[in-house]
Amino acid sequence: MRKNTQLDDTLCVIPPETPLEGFASLAVPVYRASTIVFPNAAAYRNRAARAPDGYTYGLSGTPTSRTLERQLSALHNAEWAIMVPSGQAAISATMLALLRSGDHLLVADNVYPPVKQFTRILADLGIKTEFFDPTQMADLEARLQPGRTKLVWVESPGSTSMEVCDIPGISRLTKSADALLGCDNTWATGLLCKPLELGVDVVAEALTKYVGGHSDLLLGAIIVQDRELYGRIRGTLGCLGVGVSPDECSLALRGLQTMGLRLRHVGEVSEELAHRLAQSCKHAVLHPSLSESPGHMLWARDFKGSSGVFSVRLERIPAEAIDRALDELKTFVIGASWGGTRSIVAPMVIANDRHVMRSSETITYLRISIGLENIDHLWADLQRLMGVVGT
Ligand SMILES: *Cc1c(COP(=O)(O)O)cnc(C)c1O
Repeated sequence: MRKNTQLDDTLCVIPPETPLEGFASLAVPVYRASTIVFPNAAAYRNRAARAPDGYTYGLSGTPTSRTLERQLSALHNAEWAIMVPSGQAAISATMLALLRSGDHLLVADNVYPPVKQFTRILADLGIKTEFFDPTQMADLEARLQPGRTKLVWVESPGSTSMEVCDIPGISRLTKSADALLGCDNTWATGLLCKPLELGVDVVAEALTKYVGGHSDLLLGAIIVQDRELYGRIRGTLGCLGVGVSPDECSLALRGLQTMGLRLRHVGEVSEELAHRLAQSCKHAVLHPSLSESPGHMLWARDFKGSSGVFSVRLERIPAEAIDRALDELKTFVIGASWGGTRSIVAPMVIANDRHVMRSSETITYLRISIGLENIDHLWADLQRLMGVVGT
């Protein structure tokens, strides 16, 4: 026989109010919610008035995600930020929100390759993409179609090949054609570059990399200054049903706490190792801090320093020799993604990803991300590697 437990049933589902008085924690709480309840019926009826960033439903944010949004927008001296599930989602959602059938999109040829794949979906929606060389202003100028080009997308330094582009110059051209300018700022983060201050309208970042910082989360951010742009992008994400987990945001908030220190360290070590490699091997070392690097002057003007990612260009080294060299590594690990505490290297052949900035099948880029290991161990590894592919 079951005894009457009706009262206990209710006690089970309504937690007692526990006072927060005296609990002054330094940590941002993890707020979980799908449902948001309202103080009365009128407040519920008028909930649309809480737009664009008030709390109405878990999908559009919790105090945990809002805290991260506000911390990132503060880093960019911006008004608004929106969290999305990945860096790629930050880029694709921005493009979907800002473009419609008949529009023309210009994308720098050296962007994160999955962005180019996404433009095939845009093509099916009637949005035409063209790629341009972001190091050649004349190329961009020739391809801009005033009235039709609605968005120009750049990434600086470019993925893998590390070209720095003239963001203020590109912004002037873009504005004169009445188009918006978007920029993937994952390499620099808001600590080393604030693209909105250089004339960019929308910044996308993969928090997966330096903000997360420990290779254990996926998250992206869209950062804007303009309230109308913010509303359009937030609205599109709501319609798509895209939201983020407070647990991921909590990890990103924790990562942010040490990002300044981590970035300063990996920036110094990456500059030092790039310099040593450039001095000691015949292969081209692609790091914007090197004075002989083509983007060096722009980098010195627009960036506050280096992060930990750079590349070495290997020409005509057989894949088999490169694999053998990578298998010699003791401290570096091999893999995609970057920005964590472990140093990582990825061999990249980018010929098929490039449309206007030619690369060759015979060129392999070693993309190197410096982590927090001891520099002597990393240098010993790089010397071992160069010992196999030839100094
Ligand atoms: C990794 C990366 C992305 C994508 O980030 P995810 O969170 O992995 O989707 C976008 N842009 C750049 C420059 C990246 O390195």
